[in-house]
Amino acid sequence: LSNRINIAGTKNELKDLATVINRMLDRIERSYNSQKQFVSDASHELRTPISVIRGYTDMLKRWGKDDPEILDEGITAISQETESMKDLVESLLFLARHDKKTLMMEMSSFDPAELIREIQKEETMVHTEYHFKTARMDPLTISADRNMMKQVLRILCDNAVKYSSPGTTVTLSCTNEPGGNCCLSVKDEGQGISQEELPKIFERFYRSDKARQSETGGHGLGLSIARIIVVAHKGKLRVRSKPGCGSIFSIILPNGTEKE
Ligand code: ADP
Repeated sequence: LSNRINIAGTKNELKDLATVINRMLDRIERSYNSQKQFVSDASHELRTPISVIRGYTDMLKRWGKDDPEILDEGITAISQETESMKDLVESLLFLARHDKKTLMMEMSSFDPAELIREIQKEETMVHTEYHFKTARMDPLTISADRNMMKQVLRILCDNAVKYSSPGTTVTLSCTNEPGGNCCLSVKDEGQGISQEELPKIFERFYRSDKARQSETGGHGLGLSIARIIVVAHKGKLRVRSKPGCGSIFSIILPNGTEKE
């Protein structure tokens, strides 16, 4: 016991120890509060589709057998809400399991231009009312987790579509930047993002009022996931936007080397 008292030391050392412990407690409290907020936001997001599904189930129980139109409407709505809930749960699981430190990546070397062409093809098939084109495509080699980069590009392309009108163009590019950086960009001709909103769009569950009012769907998690993946690759996710004109989201990766 006397040993322990001696280790605790002088008044000043005790003060230092208290400061260190308080700092640790502050961090634990912040992390606890952020987890609490996450669970509360997640529950809130899940409550909406559950209520919609419950509403349509009641409607089907009452009138579904006699009215084929109601039957059709109910089944379509329930299937849409279930799909949206599946996406939400997948995003929540990703965020609960990973942050930029715990992300397990399978790195490989590949040409991002090929990945961009692959995404262009897939998005063209899914979003037939939009034009997906490529602009400058420098031949490069990067080292990254290909599936994860694809996930980021898909999030950015899906957003480009969600916040633009049908008939507009989404332009993808891949360029070699000064200092050996590689830049993968997704540019749209949509509604754009205001200066005040720009810093908030990467926060979990953030959706602009306009996005909430629109019927685009979404839970405000796509860009948070995209940013975790890009930061885990030691890269940056940048955005430039002009309200009413469109936005450009760019993934800047540090290891772009020109293809031989
Ligand atoms: P979600 O799209 O599901 O709402 P995100 O995290 O992907 O969630 O995006 C957060 C918010 O950022 C969106 O709700 C929207 O307000 C804004 N945003 C994202 N991408 C774009 C874009 N290309 N054009 C305009 N606004 C965008």
